[in-house]
Amino acid sequence: MKFVIIGGDAAGMSAASRAKRNQPDLEVTVLEKTSDVSYSACGMPYNIAEPEREVDDLVVRHARVFREKQGIDLRTGHEVEHIDRSSKTVTGKNQQGKEFKIPYDKLLIATGASPIMLDLPGFDLPGVVALKSLEDGRKIKDFIRSQDVKKVIIIGMGYIALEMCEALRARSIDVAMVKPRPVFLPWMAEELASVVKEEIEGHGVKIHMGHKIERITAEGDVLKVICPDLILEGQMVLVAIGVKPGSELAAKAGLDLGPSNSIAVDKTLVTKDEDIYAAGDCADAYHVVTGQKTWVPLALRANRAGWAVADNVTGKRTELPGIAGSAVFKVFDLQVARTGLSMREAEKFGFEPVEAVIKTRSRAHAHPGSTTMHLQIVGDKKSGRLLGMQIVGNEGAVHRIKAPSVALHANMTVEEFSQCDLAYAPPFSPTWDPTLTAANQLLKKM
Ligand SMILES: Cc1cc2nc3c(=O)[nH]c(=O)nc-3n(C[C@H](O)[C@H](O)[C@H](O)COP(=O)(O)OP(=O)(O)OC[C@H]3O[C@@H](n4cnc5c(N)ncnc54)[C@H](O)[C@@H]3O)c2cc1C
Repeated sequence: MKFVIIGGDAAGMSAASRAKRNQPDLEVTVLEKTSDVSYSACGMPYNIAEPEREVDDLVVRHARVFREKQGIDLRTGHEVEHIDRSSKTVTGKNQQGKEFKIPYDKLLIATGASPIMLDLPGFDLPGVVALKSLEDGRKIKDFIRSQDVKKVIIIGMGYIALEMCEALRARSIDVAMVKPRPVFLPWMAEELASVVKEEIEGHGVKIHMGHKIERITAEGDVLKVICPDLILEGQMVLVAIGVKPGSELAAKAGLDLGPSNSIAVDKTLVTKDEDIYAAGDCADAYHVVTGQKTWVPLALRANRAGWAVADNVTGKRTELPGIAGSAVFKVFDLQVARTGLSMREAEKFGFEPVEAVIKTRSRAHAHPGSTTMHLQIVGDKKSGRLLGMQIVGNEGAVHRIKAPSVALHANMTVEEFSQCDLAYAPPFSPTWDPTLTAANQLLKKM
């Protein structure tokens, strides 16, 4: 049987490796349009922060290992342009412009996501960059070095924008951030979002919200981001306003699309064509709280979905229950973590949400080094269910979010969560873990 995979990063290479492990005689072909496979995009901001580090440090497994040790027919520089479902073939061109046509029995689309660029004048100027692929990382590092960049304007304020603002400040580069929407981290409880904003401003970053971007212009080596009432100048502009799923091939092949135009799959990751799967950032998933389809482009889900496809292709039926929307990031000295639904999302999905927002300590009362921790917990007044949690703090936020995340998978009520036996010792938490204190506070309102 021929298993063909389009896309050679997290979802694609996870699927290829596991399929070959499950069934060594399976013919596995991976078609990747770039020269890079199996790398940690997530590590790029931290790599960019260090001028001496090679970007290629982020490669998890080299192409030759997949080819020579794992027997995977991995073809880099091969861009798929068309899927023909009736003849069960994929066609495209390699980097030399030569056409290829490859038959498949089972096909996985693992084409990821691509950065959104605004269709406005100047977004194609040299020095206007986005960060998605390893090649983007190399270009950004080279540009900073060769142009001796002193100031960067970041358009957007999502987690990649925030991680990059920390990376650039680590290199003593001035940063200003700008976006059209007037609210900072709109998915986050207001009190918590303002803690994050203060942290960023405290590191000398200028934040400009509510400014519509009109165009970018260049004067010599200075780029200008022009808004009706604001002009920001720098040598580089990073566009970090989000990503869109790589679903064009699937749409052209007549496959169904789901939220945000991601490829619609069922819990076994199969599309409406029983021989075509989709996994990772290009595909949708079920949300364990709402039970509805959602699109959340993050790494664990891509790796896991790749594994599940491999199992299904090699005869071990596997269903994924879904995702809880758990996500974490670091910005300067703060950890930011979330799982489940925000108040607004909960309302949108028909819950009757109530929240408690608390400020507590990261360690026991008398223990030195304790820092402030901010939590928001959301529950459903009708059913008593736990719906979500957000945590911001200097320590312990990221690993602490994992307990409520598991509780969401287990469909727990706030009361059940409040009775969980969470571990305690003074250097790690107060006797009542902050997540339990938040649950106890919420129970008073339910
Ligand atoms: C800067 C940055 C930081 C991040 N940090 C985090 C983090 O901290 N935590 C987290 O969970 N996630 C993070 N992510 C997201 C994470 O990297 C993605 O969720 C993950 O890489 C998705 O894997 P994927 O295989 O679905 O897609 P991708 O990694 O995008 O891989 C898709 C591959 O398909 C190839 N391809 C596309 N179209 C074609 C075609 N037509 N023919 C052939 N090949 C094609 C692409 O070249 C690409 O190599 C980060 C992403 C970035 C950019």
